[in-house]
Amino acid sequence: MKSGSNAFLKRLKRQPPRDLDEVVHRLHDQVFAKTDCLSCANCCKTTGPLWTERDKDRVAKRLRFKTADFEAKYLRLDEDGDWVLQQLPCPFLEADNACAIYEDRPKACREYPHTDRAKQVQILELTAKNAAVCPAVGEIVARMELIYAEKGSPVGPAPQGPRGRRR
Ligand code: SF4
Ligand code: SF4
Repeated sequence: MKSGSNAFLKRLKRQPPRDLDEVVHRLHDQVFAKTDCLSCANCCKTTGPLWTERDKDRVAKRLRFKTADFEAKYLRLDEDGDWVLQQLPCPFLEADNACAIYEDRPKACREYPHTDRAKQVQILELTAKNAAVCPAVGEIVARMELIYAEKGSPVGPAPQGPRGRRR
């Protein structure tokens, strides 16, 4: 994500446009239609999912583990008490960037990067973080900036002061 996009997302949070979900969902469809996740897999390499109880049970069953054994082999509790992978890249990421447990992958993997979710205003901080990991989200945010700048929205780029400093 280019520098300045974080500030843009913060302004968006303060003054959310009414059409925010509509714009983000349209961009999500456009950008992911031309994104090849199999040539990227950056999310699986750098940020694993949080695992729900259902996720653990489902994947453990697929791998013919007891859930407790699956936890011991692959997961750990993080400082917030969430189940996360012990190691990254994700151990289920294959050499060709496919997911070895695709049909049973965690809910968080299915929903990543959340740019098709309702109430985008509630996850703008997460979108800013995801833009640093996911090139598709970076592209969505860049296009959002252009769209709102063209609309003359108050959330467009902030005016520049002398020598490029923000006023
Ligand atoms: S980081 Fe984004 S573009 Fe890359 S594989 Fe994940 S979802 Fe797809
Ligand atoms: S479970 Fe699959 S989709 Fe989820 S991080 Fe691992 S390889 Fe990626």
